[in-house]
Amino acid sequence: MDVATRLADVHDGIAAAARASGRDPREITLVAVSKRKPAAMIRAAYAAGQRDFGENYAQELRDKARELEDLDALRWHFIGPFQSNKARLLVGRATLLHSVSEQRHLEAVAARAQSIGVEQRVLVQLNLSGESTKHGVAGATLAALLRASETLEGVRIEGLMTMPPADDDDVTARCFAELRVLRDAHGGVQRLPQLSMGMSHDYALAIAHGSTCVRVGTAIFGSR
Ligand SMILES: *Cc1c(COP(=O)(O)O)cnc(C)c1O
Repeated sequence: MDVATRLADVHDGIAAAARASGRDPREITLVAVSKRKPAAMIRAAYAAGQRDFGENYAQELRDKARELEDLDALRWHFIGPFQSNKARLLVGRATLLHSVSEQRHLEAVAARAQSIGVEQRVLVQLNLSGESTKHGVAGATLAALLRASETLEGVRIEGLMTMPPADDDDVTARCFAELRVLRDAHGGVQRLPQLSMGMSHDYALAIAHGSTCVRVGTAIFGSR
């Protein structure tokens, strides 16, 4: 199957999942995760109408952004582990940083954003499974990060992101439900409109739990 066909299948899947929970599919952004896939595949997805692409590595995002500069209105999302020293590569280049998880990340993003005169949209990544191998903050830290962001110019927290462990549906469902509860406890949809959750194998479940942004790689571009 080619990229366009797989992309159409994922759109159908998103629409079906949205309808099943009484939601409008247009509320949900599909981020096509193109990490370690060649620029030619991104061009194919773009030609089929896809505009949002996700990358895990800052340098790879920068390189692909340069290579694909000619594609108007293409939006890059940074979804890999964030490090402060990557702010220079990512701020102003990525439409949304999904994986900010420390106050010093916010400070680094704000500093870079101010120096180039942009406002950078970010999400806070939560670690809800308690796994030490997964990046993100515990829910208890979220209020402090939100407070810190209020005093920083150039960075705007627009929502939350999480990535549950791959292998357990019950844990995954619990993580998705918990992300939404956290959002509702910290200002609700008004303050934090975006919930980035759901990947190739669990995006339908994530949509049932209120996801506004699914990050889908394998189902569009094939296995890595
Ligand atoms: C790789 C990755 C994805 C996409 O995973 P697939 O299973 O290929 O859909 C989504 N989110 C993050 C954070 C990733 O690193």
